[in-house]
Amino acid sequence: MKYFETHAHYIDEIFDKNREEILKQCKETGIEYLVDVGYNLESSQKSICLTSQYDNMFSAIGVHPHDVKTNSAQDIYDLYQSNKDQKIVAIGEIGLDYAFVSDNKKEQATLFIEQIELANTLKLPILIHSRDASLDTYQIVKEHRAEYGTLFHCFHPTEDLVRLVLERNYTVAFGGNITYKRNQRFAEYVNQIPIEQIVLETDSPYLPPEPYRGTVNTSLHLPIICKKLAELKGMEESSVANHTFENAKRFFKID
Ligand SMILES: [Zn+2]
Ligand SMILES: [Zn+2]
Repeated sequence: MKYFETHAHYIDEIFDKNREEILKQCKETGIEYLVDVGYNLESSQKSICLTSQYDNMFSAIGVHPHDVKTNSAQDIYDLYQSNKDQKIVAIGEIGLDYAFVSDNKKEQATLFIEQIELANTLKLPILIHSRDASLDTYQIVKEHRAEYGTLFHCFHPTEDLVRLVLERNYTVAFGGNITYKRNQRFAEYVNQIPIEQIVLETDSPYLPPEPYRGTVNTSLHLPIICKKLAELKGMEESSVANHTFENAKRFFKID
């Protein structure tokens, strides 16, 4: 089976000792393509550097809401301009995160909107990170359209968001979170979203699936997520792998 990893952070220093080895194993496991995702200027820069060394890797560049004070949309614009010949396939991860800091909602919203506009200028799709902020995410995404594609990473469904995803044909990525017991309602939502709109991710080194919680997550766990999704949707694993692979290629315009 072939898999497409749509969201991982191999720039993380936790991989300094074994990055090359893991990426080699990924290839052997059928993880054919990987998108490495930045979260501020420095990590986005590192991502571009890393993916330039691997034929099957691509970069997303952007400022995560946690880094709202560190960098701006302009920083990402400048980075793109000086790396036009590199494999930058999306603006991300961008969005809202109220899990730890929520006294800067306005600043987070402004940065999010500016980066949606940046993506439109650069004709790139966006990768959305939304944590404990689904209502505001819904409002912003509804009003500010990303013209070249919208992907909700680590999708945490709510009724509003699922409706919007269906209405506008957005893409959602499921990761290790679909294997967690507390996310029982996922099954219901997963069934509402057509397979054509779903891709796979690990968010490595974070969010390891069951039964690997508490360990460093890698893209080698992608088949576990594929298996769980197949189970929830009542589909063959190979069919889920194929669909999500093709969906991701289409979303990131990779042939
Ligand atoms: Zn995220
Ligand atoms: Zn991430």
